[in-house]
Amino acid sequence: MALVRERRQINLRLPELSDCRPRFPLPLPPTSTTTTTTTTSNNSSNISCNDIEKIHVLGHGNGGTVYKVRHKRNSQIYALKVVHGDSDPLVRRQIYREIEILRRTDSPYIVQCHGSYEKPSGDIGIVMEYMELGTLDSILQKYGAFDESKLSHVARQVLHGLSYLHGQKIIHRDIKPSNLLVNKDMEVKIADFGVSKIMQRTLDACNSYVGTCAYMSPERFDPDTYGVNYDGYAGDIWSLGLTLMELYLGHFPFLPPGQRPDWATLMCAICFGDPPSLPEGASEEFRDFIQCCLQKESSKRWTTSQLLSHPFVCKNPISDLVDL
Ligand code: ATP
Ligand code: MG
Repeated sequence: MALVRERRQINLRLPELSDCRPRFPLPLPPTSTTTTTTTTSNNSSNISCNDIEKIHVLGHGNGGTVYKVRHKRNSQIYALKVVHGDSDPLVRRQIYREIEILRRTDSPYIVQCHGSYEKPSGDIGIVMEYMELGTLDSILQKYGAFDESKLSHVARQVLHGLSYLHGQKIIHRDIKPSNLLVNKDMEVKIADFGVSKIMQRTLDACNSYVGTCAYMSPERFDPDTYGVNYDGYAGDIWSLGLTLMELYLGHFPFLPPGQRPDWATLMCAICFGDPPSLPEGASEEFRDFIQCCLQKESSKRWTTSQLLSHPFVCKNPISDLVDL
């Protein structure tokens, strides 16, 4: 590692110890969000903790727990993300950030927020639409690798979501299979905005070290080599390319199946290696699409609108995730 640094004369920022894990608590600046016991979303409903009852746990994330919940009056099912009052301040900042972003967004490609609250005990909750099939990560574990037509469907919907976010000057910064949710209608939606950034000005730098390191673009690992004021939106495109490749291969593209990512291996592979490419058998269209996403130089990566007109995304406009 020291040798690598010396030779390249680079100044990579070393991560916290926790950065070596695929998922880790992420530092955020203090948010300006002020919370009250009940906040309103930009959607018409504002469901609070008194309106719902827990059914069971859906999963645990970094510091928070997600429950399947039922509305007491109309029996409608929702997902409730709860961060407890005694949790790490960092985790609390992330959920405030997530609430702030979800309140700004209104798109069929973004998980919808139906309300949020903070209890006197300090517990913070977000009531979200329930995505019956769970994450693309869990679908991959359960049903195996995706074929190209399914991936075309996934790519199109995630690109619509990213196009919406980027149009609102929001960078997601943590696109990966476990942050993309699927509902019973096979709609794919972007979730988890705890480390997202709202760009205040067009030329805002977006180089803070957040997001799951495995899906980080080269310029986020090594801003000195790849440009400090890089285009943060292009970082989401890199993460999308890796996500689609992972769903196709069945394992994280930079590593052989079963290998646990550690920070040094990932940094060497992402910053010094060639971008991963698809194996034989992949179509030319898919291969080209992935190349457009996984350009090491961020300025060469295609934008959401360019990718939405790529033949890989356009060729198959009908949803066909149905036989998952
Ligand atoms: P990380 O902390 O890295 O984001 P995570 O994505 O697994 O990890 P959470 O976002 O807290 O953590 O979600 C935990 C789990 O809850 C998810 O993996 C998913 O299975 C489930 N989940 C989250 N949101 C919903 C939802 N809206 N509908 C259905 N299930 C959900
Ligand atoms: Mg998540």
